[in-house]
Amino acid sequence: MQHTNAPLRTGPVRRVVIAGGGTAGWMVAALLSKVLGKGLEIRLVESDEIGTVGVGEATIPTLLTYHQLLGINEQEFMAATQATFKLGIQFENWRNVGEDYVHSFGLTGKDHWTAGFQHFWLAARQRGEQRVPHGDYGDYCLELRAGLENRFAHLPRNGLNYAFHLDASRYAVFLRGISQGHGVQRIEGKIAQVLQHDDGDIRALRLADGSEVEGDFFIDCTGFRSLLLGQTLGVGFEDWSHWLPCDSAVAVQTASVGEAVPYTRSIAHPFGWQWRIPLQHRVGNGLVFASRYLGDDEARAMLLQKIEGEALMQPRVLKFTPGQRDVTWKRNVVAIGLASGFLEPLESTSIHLIQRGITRLMQCFPAGGIHQTDIDEYNRQVRDEIEHIRDFIILHYKVTNRRDAPLWQHCAAMDVPQSLAHRIQMFSDTARVFKAPHELFGENSWIQVMLGQGLTPGAHHPTADLMGDDELGHFLGEIRKQVARQLVQLPRHEDYVRSYAAPV
Ligand code: FAD
Repeated sequence: MQHTNAPLRTGPVRRVVIAGGGTAGWMVAALLSKVLGKGLEIRLVESDEIGTVGVGEATIPTLLTYHQLLGINEQEFMAATQATFKLGIQFENWRNVGEDYVHSFGLTGKDHWTAGFQHFWLAARQRGEQRVPHGDYGDYCLELRAGLENRFAHLPRNGLNYAFHLDASRYAVFLRGISQGHGVQRIEGKIAQVLQHDDGDIRALRLADGSEVEGDFFIDCTGFRSLLLGQTLGVGFEDWSHWLPCDSAVAVQTASVGEAVPYTRSIAHPFGWQWRIPLQHRVGNGLVFASRYLGDDEARAMLLQKIEGEALMQPRVLKFTPGQRDVTWKRNVVAIGLASGFLEPLESTSIHLIQRGITRLMQCFPAGGIHQTDIDEYNRQVRDEIEHIRDFIILHYKVTNRRDAPLWQHCAAMDVPQSLAHRIQMFSDTARVFKAPHELFGENSWIQVMLGQGLTPGAHHPTADLMGDDELGHFLGEIRKQVARQLVQLPRHEDYVRSYAAPV
């Protein structure tokens, strides 16, 4: 299709309406009002009666950038949301029942310009522990070791790469306070109808009380309903359930038992997997499952049987289709959050995608009028980013030795996207991984998960073979010693959180 660069909707965008006030709505409101608020009138409509999805408590390190942009004080944020630190995810029973590994946020070892660290570790492994002591791949990553030993601190130089576990409901309230401080107007009410101009653009939201909220530009944060983009503008949905068979979740909060560990636990089961997210005041738990293999009642019962503390609520079942809207910006509507699509929370990527949606929108913000070139560029970037993340999540299901249940047998037999098949084959043949430009997960993430899931490369880079046993052993030993030295200096995570970020 050929596009001219004449604005689709002429005239400046001044009145922005955000439909929905879950994590997505308030994240958008907070940053948009901070950065562009002086030139805009921003209103957010949400309905207490409908409520939010109420989950989404594990994050990745990019959230720190969002907080820096907003000028958020980390201690205040952590106290307000009862947050703890997160250094990675422990995957239990994913490779096979009884086998664990960690996908950590840290870097592993030291790379050479021709070859990543994995090649040196693989060379040592090939020569054997007797000839070249080398231990586990994870021994070379401070964040991974710190997580498993339950330690954390902000280090003065080259600090730990970390994220947070947070209480989603409190986070929305926290961001709402910031947004209202920047002048965002909150409107409580149920959207009964979405009104359009003759040309199809959205004109206003009509609320249940008959009032209308007019705007020049609309941000659809209405969650799975996708009221504006999906329901009103009719944008289709690309279903990825043939690659990601889980389509349901059941969630429950429990009282804390034991120390809050600085990592998320992801425990694979015959029908899906279970998460465990420790906060300061409670634990978030859930079971993500494939409804074709497990019923809702059985899932509820299974989760209640597997949780460790007392349940603080009735378990809640959520239904979803993994996939993405064909486009996330159409006409004068951009969808952000669940309204734009959903990938299951295995790698805690949804909040990150919300953040990317906002920053990208601000980079392309149509203040002077809406141009098709901006829309196309935005949609292309969103699609690129989400497809890489989709591949990374499918990897966990595809590369595993589990065959003990129909879910795992299905995953072993299924085709995967060509982009992922290429990655798996390349690592398997040569131990090489290359990060695509603008891709979220870097080489080290791919390597940790591929090795962790049981993919053993058949070869490694010849640079590593140029080192004799002593040289290679010394190179590896020095890195491990450095990790061990830093590790013992770190306090216990729970003590650190208590002194740094407990609510006043
Ligand atoms: P919602 O929270 O559903 O908010 C929708 C908003 O729209 C609400 O305010 C609602 O009131 C409003 N609304 C809807 N219809 C109307 C109407 N008619 N009138 C007025 N208002 C309306 N993400 C992570 O990053 N990490 C995780 O660990 C993680 N875990 C997850 C686990 C599960 C099981 C699921 C399903 C998701 C998880 N996510 C996770 C994703 C995360 O929860 C969402 O990305 C995040 O909460 C954003 O949701 P949202 O704001 O788009 O939608």
